[in-house]
Amino acid sequence: MKVAVFSTKNYDRQFLEAANSQTQYELVFFEPRLNRDTAILAAGFPCVCVFVHDQVDAPTLEILAAGGTHLIALRCAGFNNVDLATAAKLGINIVRVPAYSPYGVAEHAVGLILSLNRKIHRAYNRVREGNFSLNGLLGFNLYERTVGIIGTGKIGLILGQIMKGFGCNLLAYDVYHNPELEALGGKYVELPELLANADIISLHCPLMPETHHLINSDAIAQMKPGMMIINTSRGALIDTQAVIEGLKSGQIGYLGVDVYEQESELFFEDLSGEIIQDDVFQHLTTFPNVLITGHQAFFTKEALENIAETTLGNITDIELGRPCTHEIRYQPEKILIG
Ligand code: NAD
Repeated sequence: MKVAVFSTKNYDRQFLEAANSQTQYELVFFEPRLNRDTAILAAGFPCVCVFVHDQVDAPTLEILAAGGTHLIALRCAGFNNVDLATAAKLGINIVRVPAYSPYGVAEHAVGLILSLNRKIHRAYNRVREGNFSLNGLLGFNLYERTVGIIGTGKIGLILGQIMKGFGCNLLAYDVYHNPELEALGGKYVELPELLANADIISLHCPLMPETHHLINSDAIAQMKPGMMIINTSRGALIDTQAVIEGLKSGQIGYLGVDVYEQESELFFEDLSGEIIQDDVFQHLTTFPNVLITGHQAFFTKEALENIAETTLGNITDIELGRPCTHEIRYQPEKILIG
């Protein structure tokens, strides 16, 4: 089968080609993102493979369907960029990679916590310039601090396990209680209690209408002054403008983010020679107590192997008419996964 791979970076190509030694699909790699302007490139491809910033909206799907595409294989877990209703109407199957890197993402969140607390990002630059002063680098012990985890699924649980190893107390908020987190000693509380008592809050819930701007000015006002917020989940969980106000007042002491609400304009590209037009993002980068990475939490060798193998396995399942546990099936008012 011919597969058009959009948003290709050299690492996607390397890992997909290695995994394809088993399946022997005709993979054709395209650098552009998929959208209504580039969809024509996929004419004649039964399968299209996409990532988080490809726009699989209704006009794009119409063009793909007219060109003979009947399968879209997402190389990611989230599918908020896909118009599932239109895909179902056009008879296009959608498959995804539900969990490729829970350890990688949780470990990256811990990296942000440690770097922000001990100011490693600042110390690195200072030492390179021969400045060995410790002024401004004061940190705190993680031992016996309280970590509030919002969303205790695969990634949130692993973060809890790691932070327990540091001797932290765990508070949790989730619509479902995870017995494995409770077995670690984690205590489920309502959101206001978590906000009021956590020294570090880490977000691991999905982006949905209910969680959009979960961290807004109301939530920030309830937090412990000087606390730390970590977001490796989705940018729009945070109202960035409200967080900037919280940083300016000192209510927020530290911010570590791997995701940003307007990231699709910036992330995954080398813009180092360009003038960045996003003033909110530029403002964020001026704070010494803010650490931003460009959606790299998932980016480990193990994750890329898993993404490549699962994606090609999903395509094989659909091609052979086998049940695919990673298929997303749409019914009005209901999305069925698997
Ligand atoms: P998961 O589905 O295993 O866990 C999500 C948890 O959030 C579940 O326990 C669910 O009950 C909970 N939840 C749902 N609605 C909630 C609400 N309203 N309030 C609080 N909790 C709620 O997902 P996961 O694999 O742990 O991934 C978590 C998130 O991490 C994903 O949604 C994704 O956005 C993000 N992610 C980021 C990267 C990255 O590279 N930065 C990579 C993979 C995933």
